Amino acid sequence: MADLVNKYYPLLGSPIKLGNRTFKNRIFGAPMGQPDVAPDFTMTDDNIAFYDNRASGGAASICVSECVIDMKTGLGHTNAIDLSNRNILPSFTNCAKAIHKHDCMAAFELSHAGKFANARNQAEGAKDLLRYGPSEEVATDGQEIHEMTEEMIEAAIYHYGHSSAIAKEAGFDMAFIHGGHGWIIQQFMSPAMNRRTDEWGGTLEKRMKFPLAVIESVRKAVGRGFPIEFRISGAEYLPGGYDLDEAVRMAEMIDEQGLVDLIHVSAGVHEYPDAFVITHPSMFLEHGSNVHLAAEIKKHVSTPVATVGGINDPDMMEEILASGKADVVELSRQLLVDPQTPKKAFTGHKDDITKCCRCFTCFKGQLTTRVLQCALNPEIGHEAEHRQGFRPTEPKKVAVIGGGPGGMEAALTAAKRGHQVTLIEKNSRLGGELLHEEFVPFKKDLFDYAVLQAKRCEEAGVDIKLNTEATPELLQSMDVDVAIIATGAKPVTPPIEGITDSPKVAGLDVLLDKDPKVGQKVVIIGGGLVGCETAIYLDGLGKDVTVVEMTGNFAPDAPEMHHIAIDKEFRSDRVDLRLNTAAKKVTDEGLVCTDADGNEVTFPADTILLAAGFRSDDETSNALRWAAPWTVRIGDAVKAGQVLQASAQGHFAALDI
Ligand SMILES: Cc1cc2nc3c(=O)[nH]c(=O)nc-3n(C[C@H](O)[C@H](O)[C@H](O)COP(=O)(O)OP(=O)(O)OC[C@H]3O[C@@H](n4cnc5c(N)ncnc54)[C@H](O)[C@@H]3O)c2cc1C
Repeated sequence: MADLVNKYYPLLGSPIKLGNRTFKNRIFGAPMGQPDVAPDFTMTDDNIAFYDNRASGGAASICVSECVIDMKTGLGHTNAIDLSNRNILPSFTNCAKAIHKHDCMAAFELSHAGKFANARNQAEGAKDLLRYGPSEEVATDGQEIHEMTEEMIEAAIYHYGHSSAIAKEAGFDMAFIHGGHGWIIQQFMSPAMNRRTDEWGGTLEKRMKFPLAVIESVRKAVGRGFPIEFRISGAEYLPGGYDLDEAVRMAEMIDEQGLVDLIHVSAGVHEYPDAFVITHPSMFLEHGSNVHLAAEIKKHVSTPVATVGGINDPDMMEEILASGKADVVELSRQLLVDPQTPKKAFTGHKDDITKCCRCFTCFKGQLTTRVLQCALNPEIGHEAEHRQGFRPTEPKKVAVIGGGPGGMEAALTAAKRGHQVTLIEKNSRLGGELLHEEFVPFKKDLFDYAVLQAKRCEEAGVDIKLNTEATPELLQSMDVDVAIIATGAKPVTPPIEGITDSPKVAGLDVLLDKDPKVGQKVVIIGGGLVGCETAIYLDGLGKDVTVVEMTGNFAPDAPEMHHIAIDKEFRSDRVDLRLNTAAKKVTDEGLVCTDADGNEVTFPADTILLAAGFRSDDETSNALRWAAPWTVRIGDAVKAGQVLQASAQGHFAALDI
C-alpha cells in the first residue's frame, strides 16, 4: 500500500522512525519549562494538563522539561521534576498516558545543571548547598564552584542511566539527553568551562569522555531500540568557548559512537546573558537564526538531525526539511502560544496559527513567580480548567467597548460561548495600541496577532462596529446584559516646560505611519520598554536617537530576557542612552535636561518623542460603568500594562458571563 502524503506539508507530515518508534510527523515539541511542580518535585495535575494540552495539537512528540537526575547536585531551575526518585512514578506515568492520548510520543529531558545548580538557593541564603562543576572557579555571581571528584563524575553518569530507567518504566518513549545550553554535559565539552588536566578535560577527546559516557549509561539503562535524542549547542557563543567547527567534530564523535538516534542542534549557554538570547532567539534575530548550525552538522553525520529556535511558520519548517538542513523541526515557545500549530498546518489552516512574538513573557513567569504564562495565550497555566471546555451559560447580549487585544479576546471568547456580542471601536481598525507595531520589523509577529484576532472575531460572528465611540447613551440604548470595558490607557504628558506647545514634540502615534514623520535628530523622553524599542526601530531607520531616562535603569517593564536583548541591541547600534537624566524644558534647540551630576545638558532635537508611560483612562471607563446592568473593566482600562494582562483579563471576563 503506497503511503499518502500530507497535501500541505508533505515532508513535515512524513513519519520518521527513530529506534523502534515511528513518530507520526517531523514536528517535535521541545522542552520549555512547565507549571510549578509539587513541593516534592513530583508532577501535579496542572503539570499533566499542560503536557496533555501541548500534545493535543498534533506534534509527533512532546518532551517533559527539566527532569533532574540528581537533586542534590543537579537542580538548576526550581520548576524541576525529580526523576532520580521512584516517587515520581505515579505522576510521571499519568503524564505519559496524557501525552499518549493524542498519538504522540512522550520524551523526557534528562537534566543536571552542574556548576549552575543551587545558584538561586545559595543566593537566597542556603550556604550549605555546595556547587560543583568540572573545574574549580568563582562563578559570575561570586559564588564558589568546587571541582567534581572522579567519584562524583562516575555518580552523575550512573544517575543519567538510573533516571532513564525510571522514565522508561513510567511508559515514556524517548530519552532526551540535554547536552547543550551550558548544563553539566556542555560544561565538560566546553574549553571555556572545563579546565581539568585529568582524563576528563583538555583535548577534545577528553572533554567528550563525559558526554559519551552519559550516552552509554542511558543506552544501557533503556536498552536497544529505545530512542535517544542528544541535544548539543552547535556553537557556544561564549568567550573561549567552542565554535561550530568543534561542534561538528563533537557531533561526529556522537555519530561514530552509534548509540544516539537523533542529534538535536541548539545553540549557546543559558547562564551567560548575551548567549541566552541566541539560545532562545530574541525578537531582534531572524526567524530560525540557529538553523545554519544544524545544517552544517547534518552534512557530517548519518544520524538524523533536529533544529530548534525561533521557528514559527510551517512554510519555513517545510523549507528546512526540503533543503536538507534538518530532518526534524522542534518547537518550544511556538507550542506554548499555539499548541495546535501542527494540526492547523496539516489541515490547511496555517493562517489561523498564532505566532510566537518572542516577547519572553513565558521566561519571566518561570524565572520569577514560577507561573508559566504566555502573553498571547490566556489558556496557558489554566489547561486543566480549559480541558473541560467552556462552562455552559444562557446566551446573553454582550457589548465589548474597545477593540484592542483585551477587547478582542473578550469578544472572541464570549462569542465562542454562544453570547450575542457587539464590539465597539472608535478607531477605523481593530488592534488598539498594537497598531503601533505594524511597521516595526521585530514586532511584526505581535502586529500579525492583532490582525488574526480581528479576523477570528469576525469569523466567530462578533458584530464589529468600527468608527463608533461608545458613550453612556449609546450603551444604554443597546440594552445589553453585560458590557466589558476595554477602553485602554492614555499617554502621560510629564510636566515639562514647553512640552505642550512646541511643534517638535510628538506622541507615539508617529509610529502609525510607514514613514514616521520625525526629523533626523530624535530625542525620546522615557526609557521604558516602549521608549527603548522605539529607539531601536528609529535607529534602524537611520535616525540619530537619544533616549532620556530619569531613573538609573532602562526598560524595567521588559521581561528580564528581553531586557538583555535590548541591552545587546543598544551595544551594537548607535542609540545614545542617558540614564539618571531628567527632562526639564523644551526649547527651539531641543530638550534641556539635568544629568546625574546635576548639570544642565541640552540634547539638540528635530523631534522630541513622548514615551513617558501610560495611565488608565478612568474618565472613559467611569462614564460607562453603569450604562449597562453589569460592567467589568479589563486590560489597560484597569491599569496600564501589557498584552499579557489585557488578553488574560478579556478571556476570563468573558468566561464569567
Ligand atoms: C508603542 C507601544 C508598544 C507596545 N509594545 C508592547 C509589547 O511589545 N508587548 C506588550 O505586551 N505590550 C506592549 N504595549 C502595551 C500594550 O499594547 C497594551 O498593554 C495593550 O494594547 C492593552 O490592551 P487593551 O485592549 O487593554 O487596550 P488598548 O490596546 O489601548 O485598546 C483600547 C481600545 O479602545 C478604544 N476605545 C477607547 N475608548 C473608546 C470608546 N469610548 N469607544 C470605543 N472605543 C474606544 C481605543 O481606540 C483602542 O482601540 C505597547 C504599547 C505601545 C503604545
